[in-house]
Amino acid sequence: MSIKDNLSVIRKNIKTACEKTGRNPDEVLVLAVTKTRSADEINEAISLGITDIGENRVQELMSKYDDVDKNVRWHIIGHLQSNKVKYIADKVSMIHSVESLKLATEIDRQCEKIGKVMDILIEVNSGEENKDGVNPDEVFSLIENIIALKHVRIRGLMTMAPLGAPENVLREVFSALKKLSVDISNKKYDNVSMEYLSMGMSDDYAIAVEEGSTVIRPGRSLFNV
Ligand SMILES: *Cc1c(COP(=O)(O)O)cnc(C)c1O
Repeated sequence: MSIKDNLSVIRKNIKTACEKTGRNPDEVLVLAVTKTRSADEINEAISLGITDIGENRVQELMSKYDDVDKNVRWHIIGHLQSNKVKYIADKVSMIHSVESLKLATEIDRQCEKIGKVMDILIEVNSGEENKDGVNPDEVFSLIENIIALKHVRIRGLMTMAPLGAPENVLREVFSALKKLSVDISNKKYDNVSMEYLSMGMSDDYAIAVEEGSTVIRPGRSLFNV
């Protein structure tokens, strides 16, 4: 199928998942994951209404940046090394993979230089085989440390569910992230919001939406044509 057809399947599945759970489909952002995709493919997706794209490698983002339509927001969704932040601070709208005070501090430092406040999500670890992300019980202290930084703003949480996990496990992972976001909201931290729950990829986004995702990150299901 074409990118266009794939996108309409994704939008239809979001709608169905929202109808099941009484949610408004407009609350769910489709963040197109563009790793390994060419600038032409990305521009086609943008012409079809994609407003946000995600890359997980700094180098790959840099290599495509100039060829991609300027009318789009870039997100970093993969593990980010502190020493690479300086290359992307001016280019990206949101960093989904903040998992340490060290990284947040470097984002803050680079954004201060360019007079910008970066939106960030805290990546929460949801499975043993994936090393990325902080453990759920460490999220509160990480947030409490990051709050002091003036050039980053915490806007929510991100997770990757264990690949190929059965549906009941996926539901548990996604509902646990949703619950954690509610617990964090209830703390009423200054300048912290939990409006973005970045969860759900090609194989599991419908379940993620049923469990409260507000940002899904499909790659293969959008671009495999
Ligand atoms: C690759 C990737 C995705 C997209 O995965 P698909 O299975 O292709 O949908 C989503 N999120 C992250 C963090 C990724 O690295």
